[in-house]
Amino acid sequence: MSDCIFCKIAAGEIPSRKAYEDETVLAFYDLDPQAPTHVLVIPKAHIPSAAAITTENSAMVAHIFEVIAKVADELGLKEGFRVVSNCGVSAGQSVPHLHFHLLGGRDFTWPPG
Ligand code: 5GP
Ligand code: ZN
Repeated sequence: MSDCIFCKIAAGEIPSRKAYEDETVLAFYDLDPQAPTHVLVIPKAHIPSAAAITTENSAMVAHIFEVIAKVADELGLKEGFRVVSNCGVSAGQSVPHLHFHLLGGRDFTWPPG
């Protein structure tokens, strides 16, 4: 999608601080970190949100979770980490391109706000 900020980041048209990249997935540091470690993991292909995960694209989601485990290990999140995907307006999704927040380096409360 030509007007999607995360598609532009995936294409290298907007710079980002990368934590991991392969052919289909990019992990980069959030501009406004909510924890000492805050990385966003996205598919390079445009998928609007978790509500658009289907049989056709769910293998990519499995791959994203492999990447999350690898990045969390590389960044030393041994005490634990949280993975969040906000989906839709009520959940606070502000960028309509599927992304998983990988948060670590502090304790988290439950339930989330
Ligand atoms: P959401 O609110 O959709 O769950 O998460 C979107 C996230 O993207 C926010 O945490 C926000 O800080 C981050 N973000 C928005 N624009 C940019 C950007 O241009 N670069 C980076 N690195 N992060 C961004
Ligand atoms: Zn996009």
